[in-house]
Amino acid sequence: MSFATLGLSAPLLRAVDEQGYDTPTPVQIKAIPAILAGRDVMAAAQTGTGKTAGFTLPLLDRLMKGSSAQPNQARVLILAPTRELAIQVCDSVISYGRHLPLRAVVVYGGVKINPQMMKMRKGVDVLVATPGRLLDLYQQNAIRFKQLEMLVLDEADRMLDLGFLPDIRKILALLPGKRQNLMFSATFSDEIRDLARGLLNNPVEISTSPRNTTAKTVRQWICPVDKKQKPALLLELLRVQRWGQVLVFTKTREGANKLTQFLTAEGVRATAIHGDKSQVARSKALADFRNGVVQILVATDVAARGLDIEQLPQVVNFDLPKVAEDYIHRIGRTGRAGASGEAVSLVSADEFPFLCSVEQLIGQVLPRKLIDGFEPVHDVPQSRTSQRPLKPKKPKKPKQGNSNVQTVARQRGNEGKRLQKTAAMKKTGAGKPGHNQPAKQENDQRERSAVSADGNQSPRRPAPPFGRTPGR
Ligand code: AMP
Repeated sequence: MSFATLGLSAPLLRAVDEQGYDTPTPVQIKAIPAILAGRDVMAAAQTGTGKTAGFTLPLLDRLMKGSSAQPNQARVLILAPTRELAIQVCDSVISYGRHLPLRAVVVYGGVKINPQMMKMRKGVDVLVATPGRLLDLYQQNAIRFKQLEMLVLDEADRMLDLGFLPDIRKILALLPGKRQNLMFSATFSDEIRDLARGLLNNPVEISTSPRNTTAKTVRQWICPVDKKQKPALLLELLRVQRWGQVLVFTKTREGANKLTQFLTAEGVRATAIHGDKSQVARSKALADFRNGVVQILVATDVAARGLDIEQLPQVVNFDLPKVAEDYIHRIGRTGRAGASGEAVSLVSADEFPFLCSVEQLIGQVLPRKLIDGFEPVHDVPQSRTSQRPLKPKKPKKPKQGNSNVQTVARQRGNEGKRLQKTAAMKKTGAGKPGHNQPAKQENDQRERSAVSADGNQSPRRPAPPFGRTPGR
């Protein structure tokens, strides 16, 4: 199967060729013809499947046919949950559209709004936006949707996790009724399906990997260890396994900072990326990691979501994620587009409920490996997966308090309901309204707070010849 058979126009095929893509990925094979035919699409696709090109190439193709955007109008709106993802998607739009006379702009919170308002004046063919900033721009009369032809919701599950549903509903109410809608999500919870029902019109459903499964190309294993030993174990693994570049996930921003300081003190080149960092600092951290200036990028889930770091062989879960589905997103950073990768989770006894949730979600028990000198005093019990709900045992004598357990309530779907019933949940009262505030706060902060620096420059690709407005 070649791209030429999918019905794309010559300028797009040329751009694809210049990217070095020989064969379309499964999601591209299904999505591109459907979108070219004007159909609504609902696709279950993780990052790493080539989904961005899957929707960008055909939407650019369709844009070639219409009339250009009038002042303050957008013809395509792509909504993304985080500014990093928004920047990446816009970079892809610009890259794939380099031979087309189209204009793409990205807008997101955390930077001054005025330059973004100026960019909207000429009108844009493709507007990539985070929801909060888009609404701000609308309130300032900087953007109108009279000419809107197409809406894309990228990483819809993440948008809901971040509490964007009210913003999305507000945005939908502003759009013309006659438009093409595309929705991409790594997972399809009932909540996402509800949203899809109200949004999509007789959609083509695309599922390229079974629901909630992890990339087959990723070798996954866990390393049981006592909590306090985790930093030293990470160092040991870096040494013994001779890892090159590693993306390390921590549960909290404080944890990310502490681990980065520890690694740096041990002579390892490391940097952190999370919601407390300014846009400039985040872009620099990402650029330094991409360019190999640092070996280790320590990230929180929100900051790392959707980051496209090519050919990343190694992901480490320093902490297991609070939300089991984040495990899938995290390890989606490796083993991309057919490349092989490895994902290692350092699991302490108090994280056993999270381990159960992850194993239940991915439908497999993760292999374990004990590292000499790091055998845990506090055992991580063996879990099992089955179709029946798991009853996680309480961890044996966890050293630390059970503060981690509070966050279990953020588990979604059946898994979340099941875990909410556990004794641990009762104890903490998690699962009550507002339990997902931390994620929302991190996002709100990114979306609303102004930082003095512009920070608009994407670190990744050199400025392409078309479309990108100065300072983007
Ligand atoms: P995405 O799933 O959109 O985040 O894309 C993941 C990675 O796959 C990106 O680095 C793309 O450049 C790359 N990619 C997309 N389509 C293809 C393709 N057909 N062949 C090889 N790599 C691709």
